Amino acid sequence: MSKLVMAYWDCPVCGNKGIRGDVTNCPSCGRARGEVQFYMKGYTEGETREENERSDVEYLDEEQAKYVSKNPDWYCSFCNSLNSDNAEFCSNCGSSRADSEANYFEMLQKKKEREAAETAAQPQVSSSQQKPSRSPMKVLLVVLLAIIALFMWLNGNKTSGDLTVTSLQWARNINIEENRMYQESGWELPAGAEQTDARSELHHYDSVLSHYESVEVQRSRQVVDHYETYYTYTDNGNGTFTEVPHERPVYTTEYYTETVQQPVYQQIPRYQTKYYYNIWRWTPSRDVTASGEDHNTFWPEVELGENEREGQRTEAYTFTVEHRKNKGAPETYRLAESDWMNINVNDNLFITAKRTGAAPYISDEKGNKIADLIRIK
Ligand SMILES: [Zn+2]
Ligand SMILES: [Zn+2]
Repeated sequence: MSKLVMAYWDCPVCGNKGIRGDVTNCPSCGRARGEVQFYMKGYTEGETREENERSDVEYLDEEQAKYVSKNPDWYCSFCNSLNSDNAEFCSNCGSSRADSEANYFEMLQKKKEREAAETAAQPQVSSSQQKPSRSPMKVLLVVLLAIIALFMWLNGNKTSGDLTVTSLQWARNINIEENRMYQESGWELPAGAEQTDARSELHHYDSVLSHYESVEVQRSRQVVDHYETYYTYTDNGNGTFTEVPHERPVYTTEYYTETVQQPVYQQIPRYQTKYYYNIWRWTPSRDVTASGEDHNTFWPEVELGENEREGQRTEAYTFTVEHRKNKGAPETYRLAESDWMNINVNDNLFITAKRTGAAPYISDEKGNKIADLIRIK
C-alpha cells in the first residue's frame, strides 16, 4: 500500500523555512502559501530508499490521510495562493475555483519557463571579457627556434688542432680456406653430396580425431532467489508526498553439472626418408698476414697446401696522433689507403668531429674536410 508522507515548504516572502505541508499560512508573516515548491526533509527527487532506510520518513497517520485529497492544489489567479482540491473558493480572497488557470504543477512549470526566459534575456558577458591568451603561433615559433638552435649546435664542429703523427701502421691479411669433408644428414640430399645411407625415420606426428568421450563439467548460473522492495517518493502538490513501493529481483548462484562430449585425439607417427651423406665444404682455416710501419705495403706470400685455396683479403691502414701541448692519450685512426699514403710521421694535423657523434675527419684549420677517418681507440 502506498502511504502519505508529510511535505514541507519555505515562505518566498519572508524566507521562513521548513513549514509543514498541512499549514497553509506562513506562521512568521501570515501570507498564504503561493509560488512554493514542496519537499521532503532529507530526500532528493529520484533517490531510492531501502526497506530498512526509512526511519526518518514522516508518515501521515490514517486519520490525517483520510482528509487529504489525491489531487494537487489549485492556484488562485487573483491572489496567487494555493488552495486544497477540496475547496471551491480561495481561502485567502474568496475567488471561485472556476477562475483558476493552473494547478500546483502547472504553476511550477510556468515559473520555470518564466525564469528560463529571464536568463535568456540577460546580456551575455562572457567571451569578449576573457583575458587574451598567449597566441599558440608564438609558442610554436619559440619551440621551433629552440629546435633549430639545438640542431645548429649539434651540427657544429669541434676541431682539435696541434696533433702530431707519431706512427703509421698497415696490415694485409689473406684468409686460407680448406676443403673439408662433413658428415651430415637431412630430409633432402643437397647437390654435390655423396649419399652413404637412407633410412625411414620419424618425421612428425599428426593429431587425428579418434573418438568422443563424455565428461561432466561444473557450471553455474544466476537465478532469482527472491524479490525485495525499495521506495521512491513523489510530490502530490498538496503538502504531501506519496511513498511508492517498487520490486527488484535478488539473484543467487546455482551450480549444476552438465555432460559434454569431448574429442579425443590420437598421435599418429609419420615417417620419411632421411639421407646420410658426406659433403665437401670450403672452410676458413688459417690467416697469412703482412704488416709494417712505413709506406712499403705488400701482400704476403702464400703457400697453399693440398685442399687449400685463397679466401677473403682484408687490409687496414692506420696512424696514431698525439696532442703536442695538452697531454691527452694517443688516438689511433683508420684511413683509406690513398689518403693514408699522404700521411707521414711528424706531420701536424687537424681532426674535426661533429657534436652529433658522426665520424671524424682530417680537416684544415677551419674544419673543412680533407679525408674521412674511422676512430679505432
Ligand atoms: Zn512568511
Ligand atoms: Zn485568492
